[in-house]
Amino acid sequence: MDKKVRVRFAPSPTGGLHLGGVRTVLFNYLFAKKHGGDFIVRIEDTDQTRFVEGAEAYIFNTLAWCGLTPDESPLHGGPYAPYRQSERKPIYKQYAQQLVDAGFAYYAFDTPEDLEQMRVQYKTAENPSPQYNHALRTKMRNSLTLSAAEVTELLADGTPHVVRIKMPLDETVSFTDMIRGEVSFNTAQVDDKVLLKADGMPTYHLAVVVDDYLMKITHAFRGEEWLPSAPVHILLWQYLGWSADMPQWAHLPLILKPDGNGKLSKRDGDRLGFPVFAMDWTDPKTGETTIGFKERGFLPQAFVNLLALLGWNDGTDNEVFTIEELITAFSMERVHKGGAKFNYEKALWYNQEWIKRATSAQLADQVAETFAAAGFAGFDSAANGVAGSNAVAADRVLLLRVIDLIKDRCTLMADFVTQGAFFFVSPSEFDTASIQPKWTEQKNMFFIELFKAFESSIVWEAHDLENTFKEISAAHHLKPGELMLPLRIMLVGGKFGPGVFEIAEIIGKQATVNRIQKVLRILEHQ
Ligand code: GLU
Repeated sequence: MDKKVRVRFAPSPTGGLHLGGVRTVLFNYLFAKKHGGDFIVRIEDTDQTRFVEGAEAYIFNTLAWCGLTPDESPLHGGPYAPYRQSERKPIYKQYAQQLVDAGFAYYAFDTPEDLEQMRVQYKTAENPSPQYNHALRTKMRNSLTLSAAEVTELLADGTPHVVRIKMPLDETVSFTDMIRGEVSFNTAQVDDKVLLKADGMPTYHLAVVVDDYLMKITHAFRGEEWLPSAPVHILLWQYLGWSADMPQWAHLPLILKPDGNGKLSKRDGDRLGFPVFAMDWTDPKTGETTIGFKERGFLPQAFVNLLALLGWNDGTDNEVFTIEELITAFSMERVHKGGAKFNYEKALWYNQEWIKRATSAQLADQVAETFAAAGFAGFDSAANGVAGSNAVAADRVLLLRVIDLIKDRCTLMADFVTQGAFFFVSPSEFDTASIQPKWTEQKNMFFIELFKAFESSIVWEAHDLENTFKEISAAHHLKPGELMLPLRIMLVGGKFGPGVFEIAEIIGKQATVNRIQKVLRILEHQ
């Protein structure tokens, strides 16, 4: 490759970012980094009827969470600014003019009523939705059907008009897609797309070509849904005289529903109970929030990893990759042509793997945030780790220890709260129903003696606590095995958690004694 690789993600800020959108970002990013190139984010906001407040900020927050930092963007700046198409409006008009002057495009003066009438008048059984194309343009009010004098007058009067591409009648347009190979279209199938709207704003079709050219984009990767637009774009590259600079294209496969039956949509996520958006998205109009992978408790590394494997692999059975490993291993040619089925169980598996692999120090901030979000006091400071504060330092040591003990049992971040809350607060409920059936007066006596022994113990370490426990159980002629479950339920609330004496060591003497006493009282009253 002689030119410096420059790729772009070009979202229209219309709402939350679907995981397919983030995968497009990721493939762009991986390709750019692999080839020492630039990754550009350009905001395609020329359709102002679809503009949604907050959507752009959401996109950048998502990229930041995933660690996919653009080299150039409206937020990060760069030599080809502005990177927001609405701010580039004056740039496009001259190119539309150039196309009209060369006969590749034309002015169309049809009113919305004219267009509506066309759709009704030419509707037939074979052609239920007539399009403004080579067949119908001859019947409409445009610079191809009106005389030159009429056109000049209409323009001079400021009559509202658009500029449309004049699609050739019957030509084959082809290009080589990096994933699909040779792709061909017959131009007769494509309508005369609007390039410049009545308000002087370009449509996506014109803006994407002009900006890819001006921003020196070398490779354009986008979703498969854009494939039908490719012939329009290829012709525009030709008509504007830029063919030699046209980027290489790759149309990425769709992400499919778990059963493979069509494109995965936000509604499928709602229906099947899993996130489809990267992060929580609140629709500013309805106030409705759609859950994201982040808030559901995914680690960004796991999210990025699972996205990479949706439609790509490195040719081996490897599934777990860091971002650096992905950069090394990635190639566009190994992206599959066919759609990739989304499997939420598999997504959870990736998260579990990443939680297991992460160190407690790497997880600490996020775990602390999760506890804070669940309403646990004292976790903000643990997350921020105020330097020099012993209390905070101690909390952090405790937090790291708890994380080490429970992380292998956690699939989502929220599991740290369910698996670990009892380390920080007394359980609000105790599963005494599991103790009750086998409870005896003898066991009661044992636990009374146990908490008294614990109360007066000088050393508070798991090993010593276990010895004390064993000695007293022997003296009572009870099997330690029968006493472990009650002790666990007393300290944890339920039948789960790591080693019970380690738990006792961590929660400390006071909490251990209190919890044993509390459950003994409950059992007494049952
Ligand atoms: N603005 C288009 C979108 O919203 C970009 C398509 C492309 O990358 O060409 O997806």
